[in-house]
Amino acid sequence: MPLTDFIAVGGARILDFCNTKVVHTNYTEDTLLTPDDLKRFIKVFFHLRQSVTEPAFERTLLLRTHLRDYFETLHSRSRHSLAIDRLNTFIENEAGSIALTLKAEMNCPLVWRTESSRAAPSILLQEFFSFLLNAKKDRIRKCKNPNCSHIFYDNSRNSKRLWCAMDSCGNIMKVRAFRTRSQK
Ligand SMILES: [Zn+2]
Repeated sequence: MPLTDFIAVGGARILDFCNTKVVHTNYTEDTLLTPDDLKRFIKVFFHLRQSVTEPAFERTLLLRTHLRDYFETLHSRSRHSLAIDRLNTFIENEAGSIALTLKAEMNCPLVWRTESSRAAPSILLQEFFSFLLNAKKDRIRKCKNPNCSHIFYDNSRNSKRLWCAMDSCGNIMKVRAFRTRSQK
């Protein structure tokens, strides 16, 4: 498989990680089917060569589910979220794989322990925390195309982005809206 079969429409690596699984109306598309797929994802998006064990792969897929649930419930009015509870439990369990290491060649002194067999989910969890530090909640959106479940970060100046990508979902939805209008 080529290195570039992953899509990058999320505007943030952690959202692209969630977008590796897309639920369409009639089928689901998943580009992370094996530990090797995850290894390639980490190489493409993080430029890291990380071996991925089967348990680490399973944990990472679980994290992906929790993160998607979390992002999708961000805009819910309810203060209590099962998604946050699950994510918190995951973080608690993963805490043992986090360690501080000093590396002179890196700008950031905080490096997560990578020799652990749990390194893959830790890389994604760290990315999630970094993302949250600067992200604005109302700019994290889900594509308005009902046949697409991509989530993205709206970096546009007017903050009115509706679709994951203009050349796919944007055009489909514009054509659909045009047809609906002309049928009236
Ligand atoms: Zn879309």
